Amino acid sequence: MVGGGITGLAAAWNLTNAPGAARVVLLEGSGQVGGKLALGDVDGVGVDLGAESLLARRPEAVRLAQQVGLGDDLVHPRAVGAGLWSRGMLRPLPAGTLMGVPSSAAGLGGLLTDAEVAPVSAEPDGRWPALRDDVDVSSFLRERVGAGVVDRLVEPLLGGVYAGRADELSLQATVPALWAAAVEGGSVVVAAAAAARAGLATHAPAFVGIRGGVGRLPLAVADRLRERGVELLTDALVRSLRRTPDGWRLVFGPTTSEQAIDVQAVVLASPAAPTSRLLRDELPYAATLLAGVEYAGMAIVTLVLPRASAGALPGSGLLVPPVEGRFVKAATHSSAKWAWLDESDPEQVVARTSVGRYGEQGDLQLDDHDLAARAVADLADLLAAPLPVRAVRVTRWGGGLPQYQVGHVRRVNAARAALQGAPGLVLAGAAYDGVGVPACIASATKAAQEIQTHLEVLGHGGAG
Ligand SMILES: Cc1cc2nc3c(=O)[nH]c(=O)nc-3n(C[C@H](O)[C@H](O)[C@H](O)COP(=O)(O)OP(=O)(O)OC[C@H]3O[C@@H](n4cnc5c(N)ncnc54)[C@H](O)[C@@H]3O)c2cc1C
Repeated sequence: MVGGGITGLAAAWNLTNAPGAARVVLLEGSGQVGGKLALGDVDGVGVDLGAESLLARRPEAVRLAQQVGLGDDLVHPRAVGAGLWSRGMLRPLPAGTLMGVPSSAAGLGGLLTDAEVAPVSAEPDGRWPALRDDVDVSSFLRERVGAGVVDRLVEPLLGGVYAGRADELSLQATVPALWAAAVEGGSVVVAAAAAARAGLATHAPAFVGIRGGVGRLPLAVADRLRERGVELLTDALVRSLRRTPDGWRLVFGPTTSEQAIDVQAVVLASPAAPTSRLLRDELPYAATLLAGVEYAGMAIVTLVLPRASAGALPGSGLLVPPVEGRFVKAATHSSAKWAWLDESDPEQVVARTSVGRYGEQGDLQLDDHDLAARAVADLADLLAAPLPVRAVRVTRWGGGLPQYQVGHVRRVNAARAALQGAPGLVLAGAAYDGVGVPACIASATKAAQEIQTHLEVLGHGGAG
């Protein structure tokens, strides 16, 4: 296993589920497992520094948490509404949208002008040609539901998930439910309404967290893997991948004390750029395809404030559309959202803001002090309230989120096809089939199944 983020860990978990499983070694380049799921401390308050909630409408993350013993600690966020900053004020985020696409014109007034709402009302009755090829989200939706919806609803929601821009991101890869409607020539408003109905029909909150932070998930998986005899090596950056007569040789570790391991199969669960570098010698075409997956960097600024400030913070949080030209892209009132965090400190509350979007990386060049100061000042300005911050922590996620640009699905399929000639080598993780934690776990499960099949053909061996 190359990479000890949630994908590599979940792949190892799946590979060792059955008795008599293969020997598994996980090589993680950094000093700790978890990747973008990371716990940290701000002034004595334990928080998530990266991902902080899990989509519960897909089963994978919840199931893995239960399997590794965190079932009793799964918690739903409190039902406090989120806001959207638009045209100088904070407004409630409309309910029932699909990545910002409304399921009807109801409830959009105020946020959008009458002229901006009109295309939403008209779209279900339009005659739309069936889409044949992938397209960027922005140009497709501008034609369907107008620029107002794209600028003020789709951009901030898409930005929240991908730190990306609607004019770059692929409709097919980022909003598959809208893509499915588009290839049929169907209405996107009707598709959004169907998705909203399906969500409501589950009668369950869409998201779930873990008491103490979702960063506990990779740590718990790692603990269970060690119990199963999996070797988890940290500070074990994989530097090269070479074919051998029986499989693959991985060279890893510091340049001063490199080590090598021979294995029959490898799951490459590192981000696209390091994976591309590893493939350069043996599979140059796949390497070139993966080198084309762009990433957005971002920073999370976590703030600890006196409890008296809680009233000034927005419900569970707010999103800010890029058209507003603000520094802060989003803010989460973490203590309002998560009861466990609220109860962890009677004196203080926690909020976090995110900064940086694809194509707007200049903001991230500020040093930590200045970046935090600008984020706090911008948030205080948005909330029209002073924010007497007691402690602050800046967490930088350079290369945090892959950008599924137009043609992403074709690119990934081509990269996987190029690996057909490399038996026992499998790609998994956020770069390919979805950036959310459940999607990463799903890709890990699929990768583990492929490796399992490969090992069965060979007779048992080891996966690195
Ligand atoms: C700030 C932020 C907030 C997010 N919030 C959410 C959220 O709330 N909910 C959600 O579902 N998703 C969220 N995401 C997305 C989600 O967290 C990630 O997409 C997911 O965790 C990626 O997991 P991964 O294992 O595929 O990759 P990573 O977490 O990137 O792990 C890859 C690992 O590979 C290691 N590595 C790299 N190169 C090598 C090498 N050569 N050798 C060995 N190891 C190597 C890295 O050190 C890393 O640990 C967020 C992402 C970010 C950045």
